[in-house]
Amino acid sequence: MTESKTKKPQRHYKSSKTHERREPHRLESSLASVLPKNPRSSVKDYDKSLHSSSGQHRRSGNEVNDGTSKRLDGRIRLQRKREAINTNRQEQANDRGNAPELKIIPVSNGSNGFGSTGLNSNNMHSLNPANGQEGIREKKLRIIPLGGLEEVGRNMTVFEYGKDIIIVDMGLQFPEEDMHGIDYIIPNSRYLRDKTDNIRGVFVTHGHLDHIGAIPHHLRVLGNPPIYTGAMTKAIILKRQDDYKDSPKLKIHAINTEDYIQLGAFGVEFFHVCHSIPDAIGLAIHTPVGTIIHTGDFKFDQNPIGDKPTDIGRIAHLAEKGVMALMSDSTDADKPGYSISESEVKDNFSDIIQKSEGRVIAGTFSSLLTRIRHMVEIAERYGRKVAVDGYSMKANVEIARRMGYIRANKGTFIDIKEINHYPRNKIIIMCTGAQGEDNAVLMRIANEEHKYVHLERGDTIIFSSSVIPGNERTVQSLKDGLVKKGVRVVHYQMMDVHSGGHAKREELKLMLNIVNPKHLIPIHGNHYMLRQHGETAKHLGMPENNVLIAENGQVIEFDQKGKGRLTKEKVPANYVMVDGLGVGDVGNVVLRERQQLAQDGMFTVIVVIDSGTGKQIGNADLISRGFIYMRNNQELLKDSRMEIKKIIEQKTRNGYPINWEYVRSSIRDDMGQYLFNKTQRRPMILPVIIEV
Ligand SMILES: [Zn+2]
Ligand SMILES: [Zn+2]
Repeated sequence: MTESKTKKPQRHYKSSKTHERREPHRLESSLASVLPKNPRSSVKDYDKSLHSSSGQHRRSGNEVNDGTSKRLDGRIRLQRKREAINTNRQEQANDRGNAPELKIIPVSNGSNGFGSTGLNSNNMHSLNPANGQEGIREKKLRIIPLGGLEEVGRNMTVFEYGKDIIIVDMGLQFPEEDMHGIDYIIPNSRYLRDKTDNIRGVFVTHGHLDHIGAIPHHLRVLGNPPIYTGAMTKAIILKRQDDYKDSPKLKIHAINTEDYIQLGAFGVEFFHVCHSIPDAIGLAIHTPVGTIIHTGDFKFDQNPIGDKPTDIGRIAHLAEKGVMALMSDSTDADKPGYSISESEVKDNFSDIIQKSEGRVIAGTFSSLLTRIRHMVEIAERYGRKVAVDGYSMKANVEIARRMGYIRANKGTFIDIKEINHYPRNKIIIMCTGAQGEDNAVLMRIANEEHKYVHLERGDTIIFSSSVIPGNERTVQSLKDGLVKKGVRVVHYQMMDVHSGGHAKREELKLMLNIVNPKHLIPIHGNHYMLRQHGETAKHLGMPENNVLIAENGQVIEFDQKGKGRLTKEKVPANYVMVDGLGVGDVGNVVLRERQQLAQDGMFTVIVVIDSGTGKQIGNADLISRGFIYMRNNQELLKDSRMEIKKIIEQKTRNGYPINWEYVRSSIRDDMGQYLFNKTQRRPMILPVIIEV
């Protein structure tokens, strides 16, 4: 969109020289974003790191001015640029020729959108010095990943230019194994809280939870901006919204891939990508400083089932005029070669099901709708009935059937309650829980706690999704339990049952070659995966400085020349934990307590004290949960009672008034030390003092 964009497309890799210094990674400021990964870090650290990051924010806001004469130049230059952009955009719109559908959606919560004709006077506000620094300094495009760059999950990226903000995806992340009782984690939206007037819209690439899961939590605090996404994704988002009754009604628009949506300074176009869920899209985001291609999650399956291949032609067309930056899926960047085609996966499935004598129980993600669709087709081929169990699985299958994505003969789907009316070899059960989640259906089946499904020798269980890093141990013990029962366990590693939804290394190269971007911003993955992706780009000739590997919350900036850099500015990106329906109320203190309980258990001390004399009455009652087995530790309990008696005598010796809080905390601290000396464990100690 800048002048440079109108030039002939050129290969950027070799030609671009840069003198910019690469910013060193800031370890201290990254503390805020990684904190809960270290259960022992203190709350104080956490606060400090937050402050330091907001401090940087303020500093960087003041840093820019370098003389008044330049300011004026800057203004004129900016104005010219604006005009150029608008003419350009108009030309582009006319250019689109046989696919001319220019859809201009009015900006709903703000007034500085570009109209379809020329320079809209509303745009001038940002050139007015009275509007503060933003107008004086050279405007930069800011890309701020709020999540998804240090994990597979909670994807959310902010694009900010002047007073316009668009957001791509709002996902959640499943907790690590040591985050007890946390349902999931969502990105931190604090940076956006006082900028809600600037948010023009949210684009959602597809219906997986790591891309839509935080919508119910964030939309209401961000002023309920409009959402643009595919039709199927829209249905999934709306279905999930049913669980959040007090949320505002979503303004959600289904797009199709020919649309062009202009929101403030951003023009967004779409392309179809193939992934493990239908209706996935990537985005071409046109900004005043250049175009960004955002792939979402994708792979290049040339023979997908029930879906079209990733639209290479369209991507090439969108990239024709030069791409400033490619933001590309890194989930499988460390895996060589190409991903397996869904067609091959289907053959594998077919094989397993044909050979199974008993019931087949397939645990998978409810969102892998492509996979679910296969199973239904194969079930019909072998005359099996399909029973679906698990809340999210049922919901997604219902949506997919309603939208015609899963087509089944009448009678193929049966209720889980009816499975015992059919022979064992006529049933396929599809359920959630391939990750070993505590309360998911597969876990209940494995533990013989399921109301209708009971395992027998000869049954087959298929784990058909890869294990989320961090869940390996749980899944392993789940599988052990099943094998002991004589159940055949098939895991994706054994049978290629799983073809990931993500591009492997050769496919990433293909994307890089089609788009031919000046910069690569690897997204969706742990730091290691992002690095691997960066290495791949360097291998293809991209200069090191043009690979921008950021941390969550780190601001990436593009100047008017389309040159990108990682800044030192960091916005809050630490975890927000969701526990049940509470958001963010489980802080690090609560989490640390849960970790302590899980590790060393709990030890409750109940003492009755005569409020008249301050003397203890009788012996202390002791309750242990997960700390020691009381029956085998009578000696320790006896000693503990003596110890408690001693502590109380000591702490109440000085007579009235007795400071009960002091007594309580003494029991906690002294008994903690005492028990640690005896057992090398640190249970949580709960002193209860009853005055009579
Ligand atoms: Zn996905
Ligand atoms: Zn994803």
